[in-house]
Amino acid sequence: MKYKIAIIGSGPAGLAAAIYTGRAEIDTTIYAGEEPGGQLTKTTEIENYPGVIGRTGPELMLSMTEQAQKFGAKLVYETVDDLARLQSEYDGVILAMGASSRLLGVGEERYWGKGFSTCAVCDAAFYRGKNVYVVGGGDSAIEDAWALTKFASSVTILVRKTEFKASKAMQKRINDNPDKIKVMWNTNLKEIRGERVEELVLDVNGVEQMVKADGIFFAIGHIPATGFLSKNSKILDENGYVKTGNGDWPTMTDIAGVFAAGDCVDHRYRQAATAVGMGVQAALDIEKWLESK
Ligand SMILES: Cc1cc2nc3c(=O)[nH]c(=O)nc-3n(C[C@H](O)[C@H](O)[C@H](O)COP(=O)(O)OP(=O)(O)OC[C@H]3O[C@@H](n4cnc5c(N)ncnc54)[C@H](O)[C@@H]3O)c2cc1C
Repeated sequence: MKYKIAIIGSGPAGLAAAIYTGRAEIDTTIYAGEEPGGQLTKTTEIENYPGVIGRTGPELMLSMTEQAQKFGAKLVYETVDDLARLQSEYDGVILAMGASSRLLGVGEERYWGKGFSTCAVCDAAFYRGKNVYVVGGGDSAIEDAWALTKFASSVTILVRKTEFKASKAMQKRINDNPDKIKVMWNTNLKEIRGERVEELVLDVNGVEQMVKADGIFFAIGHIPATGFLSKNSKILDENGYVKTGNGDWPTMTDIAGVFAAGDCVDHRYRQAATAVGMGVQAALDIEKWLESK
């Protein structure tokens, strides 16, 4: 093989890129990191990935991994902490480290796929007729609550402060529809109880209160997994997401030969299908860029 590249991340973006570079006969090594398969391994059934019906996140990621390996990609179970080392060892690099949802550390991780979610676009439809809560005070909390009202019988937003951080336009949605979304101010989630989410322990104005719940969604932000790139800050924006768009190369960063795709770039859509699309774009770009050199 004429060229060899490294892909950092084995989520949908990294694996989609590897399927394309592998098929293009580029020697491809995927660094899998601490979460092989990425964020989808945390969830149960996937309903919105085209062509996939009745399969779970872990199953989907296993078949993407096998497909990448079928075309020659090698998986290395290592976490990368030095981009320069990879640049010296490979002809090009694709960054696909994804992002993680901000958590509160109140034991919520035990409830992934059991009533706890950080993606209303992905999971709202599983809460038809249910009683759900959303944690957060920004635009995304209101947007998520709004998405949930299409399905859930009751939606309550838990806001830490006594006012929203959200834009006035978003707040208007709530004010105009008081019957759809309730708000609890000065409220912190302290604990989740049950085999799956059944009860929430809240601190409301300093007083402990228990409420019954079928689901709890966090909308308190995402953190791109780009901490190790702080030395390469020219390729990061002020929130730590990777910036792309270098000359004729939409997916190349400001470092020649370093491309990026998926949730480490995208703070807007954050879907498996969009991450896959960006991974494919990065793969096609890196292939053409290598040939153009
Ligand atoms: C609970 C949950 C449910 C979801 N459900 C859906 C759904 O139903 N449908 C949908 O479309 N989307 C869903 N999403 C969103 C979807 O999972 C993401 O948009 C998608 O996984 C992003 O893909 P990615 O490849 O960019 O990143 P990720 O999936 O985040 O993968 C990142 C990869 O990078 C690796 N990595 C990170 N840092 C390093 C490093 N330094 N060195 C090496 N490797 C590294 C990680 O180990 C991981 O393998 C859900 C997300 C969550 C959290």
